[in-house]
Amino acid sequence: MAHEPTTSAEHFWMPFTANRQFKGRPRLLERAEGMYYTDTDGRQVIDGTAGLWCCNAGHGRREISEAVSRQIAHMDFAPTFQMGHPLPFELAERLAQISPAGLNRVFFTNSGSESADTALKIALAYQRAIGQGSRTRLIGRELAYHGVGFGGISVGGMTNNRKAFGTLLPGVDHLPHTLDLQRNAFSRGLPEHGVERADELERLVTLHGAENIAAVIVEPMSGSAGVILPPVGYLQRLREITRKHGILLIFDEVITGFGRVGEAFAAQRWGVTPDILTCAKGLTNGAIPMGAVMVDEKIHEAFMQGPESAIEFFHGYTYSGHPVACAAALATQEIYQRENLFQKAIEIEGYWQDALFSLQGLPNVTDIRTVGLVVGIQFAAHADGAGKRGYEVFRQCFEDGLLARASGDTIALSPALIVEREHIDAMIERLAGAIRKAS
Ligand code: PMP
Repeated sequence: MAHEPTTSAEHFWMPFTANRQFKGRPRLLERAEGMYYTDTDGRQVIDGTAGLWCCNAGHGRREISEAVSRQIAHMDFAPTFQMGHPLPFELAERLAQISPAGLNRVFFTNSGSESADTALKIALAYQRAIGQGSRTRLIGRELAYHGVGFGGISVGGMTNNRKAFGTLLPGVDHLPHTLDLQRNAFSRGLPEHGVERADELERLVTLHGAENIAAVIVEPMSGSAGVILPPVGYLQRLREITRKHGILLIFDEVITGFGRVGEAFAAQRWGVTPDILTCAKGLTNGAIPMGAVMVDEKIHEAFMQGPESAIEFFHGYTYSGHPVACAAALATQEIYQRENLFQKAIEIEGYWQDALFSLQGLPNVTDIRTVGLVVGIQFAAHADGAGKRGYEVFRQCFEDGLLARASGDTIALSPALIVEREHIDAMIERLAGAIRKAS
């Protein structure tokens, strides 16, 4: 039912938002269909970011809304502790069919943050289960985003997300990030330089002893920090070092999962299989909150070796495997498969890259990083401070009818995989205009 939108800003505490600024200049979306949002003034805005990197099949998919309303009417909720219902079993089987080889066991969560914390807990408990209880240290990476749980911000590497919250988890180190504007600016696809940054892991192993390290967690491609790609050979190198030392490798594929880089998962695109993989967002096309953690069969098996009568893993959420979320996810996976959307992302990648590289040479553009259907366009910082120019381009884009995402002085685009050439042309035109106006 249509209703008058409210712009009262008296009660909603907006997440990750400059609430005081927003009050004066609200941006409110009201409807979504295909590649477009409509805002509360009735303006059409091209969705350049698939919502928040999540609506990979585009907005307003009837199959999903029908599956969701059918499921609520049929059975709105059922517990999955010590009992269950068929849908998470069915969904887990479906995910195992598209997951990297061996990652056959699926634990359900409600978000990317919960997936990250669940993955870290699985890693720690697994090491204990196999008699390696001294392995308690965790290794993350600078500029990484693994959500906002205490585990996620501890291994995460975005300083603003950590600094207000005290000491966090002990025993955490961070690998260096892989951003290198000097050597890699304007690379097409994966940057050539930087594989050696993975070798820092060897130094940490020497420092702490492999017998004290449980897991390394990385985003195969860092999204929230501004689309930072792995240098050629980097993920392979991390895999070699972790395998050599019995350290688990966790990929956080909350953004890269479900076709964003052209395959179901980045692990497949770059030919590196982790031991644990987290996802969320595109799992349900963003329509219902849900996340998942996929683990190698050997990890699950280790949990099953304990005493018969005990619960093997004291962890779970009221809504793990929620029937409505499962219904949304199953309908979403069906769309991805039927419309061959991951393949479509690969097919349009060349056109997308050519269009993006037409922005090279515009004022203040210092880097363009793109793979699959995602890009980070970095700008020289404004004299008034870091992040100002990125925010200004984002704001101008929105005014000109394009939803982009600002992270510091980088603008990210990550359109739905249904994007067509005409949408790409329109996005680039609006973005180019916004860059010029913001310079
Ligand atoms: N991990 C990564 C890589 C993410 O990009 C995000 C969200 N952007 C998260 C975890 C957290 O997901 P959520 O916001 O659903 O908790």
